[in-house]
Amino acid sequence: MQPIHELYPLLTTAPKKVVVTMHQKPDADAMGSTLGLYHFLIQLGHDVQVISPTNWARWVDWMPGVANVLDYELHRSQADELIAAAEWIFCLDFNHFGRTKAMAGALKEAKAVKVLIDHHEQPDEASFNYGISTPGKSSTCEMVYDLIVNAGFRDKINKSVAECLYAGVVADTGSFRFSSTGASVHHMVGYLKEQGLEHARVHEQLFDNYLENRLRFLGHVLTNRMEVLYELNTALVYITRNDLYKYDIKTGDTEGIVNYPLSIQGIKLVGFIVDRDEVRKWSFRSKGNFDCNSFARKYFNGGGHFNAAGGSDHDSLERSVQAFKKALLENKDLLQ
Ligand code: 5GP
Ligand code: MN
Repeated sequence: MQPIHELYPLLTTAPKKVVVTMHQKPDADAMGSTLGLYHFLIQLGHDVQVISPTNWARWVDWMPGVANVLDYELHRSQADELIAAAEWIFCLDFNHFGRTKAMAGALKEAKAVKVLIDHHEQPDEASFNYGISTPGKSSTCEMVYDLIVNAGFRDKINKSVAECLYAGVVADTGSFRFSSTGASVHHMVGYLKEQGLEHARVHEQLFDNYLENRLRFLGHVLTNRMEVLYELNTALVYITRNDLYKYDIKTGDTEGIVNYPLSIQGIKLVGFIVDRDEVRKWSFRSKGNFDCNSFARKYFNGGGHFNAAGGSDHDSLERSVQAFKKALLENKDLLQ
């Protein structure tokens, strides 16, 4: 993988057919960074299509340009054609093709120049021609901002670019509270404000955009589905298929619930499992020096960041929870 700055001079050569994509079930950073890049690249005359590997949550559905995003699962043949014909493919907010589910094969086989922009640990660099992977960065949105500015196109940051990039930064920094929030983040937000960003509107769209059932569900989960293992400074939250059905839970409705138990004094790790689809999906969050990325990799075939990672298990909910508890005991020294 060549460093990203080697791509800068190519941005203004002849217009290209471009595909921009992200990880499955895109969050605000994935959708915000791809659409932010989209709004930038179209100003340079490129023919750009954003493709999501799956559907997405209502709280990213307000972003400018989202109406043109293709859902791979719904428009597979059209998306496959676009991927095969693309001259450039930008892969944002994921570290290996496996994170794009059914799209992975098409991406691997594509003849395009492939570009990675990501902040997850351990990227699969061999799969990309150009790229940048900086786990210390707050968000992929901040990295797209850096690309635009460093390539000399600061003036192309219009209100649409600003709104999309701001959304991902807010989401991935926990509204500017995580330690990944460097001075660079605040400088960036200052500039976005100068371009007309209405930050309060973005916060509202992201965080005050659920239906009543989601709040009732949250109450149920915190009351009935949370186990606090004080001797291991860990909380476990599990969500059954019946819970999802009963509360009519849709994509994105479980987002953020994993963070609540971290607010309990002394809790260092939260394991959050949802019994959905063909696999059990785990989310892990930690405070301080517990490495979620290594934990997710070692026990649940996943990965992510130091303090936030995910994984999956093909076993039943009960057995996966047992495996989690066993893994906790193996990591007792790190948790106490
Ligand atoms: P979340 O718990 O919000 O789904 O994910 C937390 C972080 O871990 C995100 O940055 C996400 O991209 C990453 N992540 C989640 N699930 C997986 C997984 O199964 N594999 C890998 N490699 N990363 C994951
Ligand atoms: Mn991200």
